[in-house]
Amino acid sequence: MKFQGRRQSRNISRRGSSGGGFPVGGGLGIGGLIIVVLFTLLTGGNLGDIMGSTTQPNRQIEQSENNEQSDKLYEFTSVVLADTEDVWGSLFQNMGREYTPPQTTIYSGAVQSGCGFASSQVGPFYCSADKTVYLDLTFYNDLQNKYGAAGDFAFAYVIAHEVGHHVQQELGILSQVQQIQQRVSQTQANQWNVAMELQADYLAGVVAHHQDAAGYLDPGDIEEAMQATIAVGDDTIQKRAQGHVVPDSFTHGSAAQRKEWYMKGYNAGDLREWDSYTALGLQ
Ligand SMILES: [Zn+2]
Repeated sequence: MKFQGRRQSRNISRRGSSGGGFPVGGGLGIGGLIIVVLFTLLTGGNLGDIMGSTTQPNRQIEQSENNEQSDKLYEFTSVVLADTEDVWGSLFQNMGREYTPPQTTIYSGAVQSGCGFASSQVGPFYCSADKTVYLDLTFYNDLQNKYGAAGDFAFAYVIAHEVGHHVQQELGILSQVQQIQQRVSQTQANQWNVAMELQADYLAGVVAHHQDAAGYLDPGDIEEAMQATIAVGDDTIQKRAQGHVVPDSFTHGSAAQRKEWYMKGYNAGDLREWDSYTALGLQ
């Protein structure tokens, strides 16, 4: 994606790694696992992340190799966020609404969010309580090395997906889904979660549509994003982590579904076909 010299978001900040006093660097080990468990308990699903966190293998936190790469990635992230601001600002205007963009916090290792403490092990996530996207930029390398989804636009998809949860928050969808989830069975609650995640993938695709139309994409970018949607599919992650797949436990959708909904949004460029809830037979 072309990003050098382009407008950067102002709604982004770096958070030092000392927040909360949790160990950073090296392996998080047991401490990291505790943070992940605590985070899951505290939030009770009150957040949107890019993938299911409970089935992830334990992994080590990598320090960014060098500052130059880290600075470039920060600039890239800021430009993608600016693109989401432009796209959603304009689409909200078409609906007679005003779009207030999310804040984005770039952190390293672990962070205290409005949804509780989180370590990088949960992956990028959006917290609706403080309307903030949390990103550890080392996830960029994880995408390539651990999930096999290489390329800058794979990461752009992840960012746009988290912003998609903010769009859902602004439109009142997140709270509606959470209310429904409280009165249905676990399996049904998971299905509602899948529909919500597929809709966030759709919304990420909508942003890509407009980035493409503006001439910002390089050849192969959409392919990179599609590979990323496949890499974070529940079946892909479960197969790698436990060797088999349990569809009832899906919370984010299969690889095929995630790719399908991302491409639906990419082809539409607006909200016309975004109703993943009806499509999944939920309403
Ligand atoms: Zn999500």
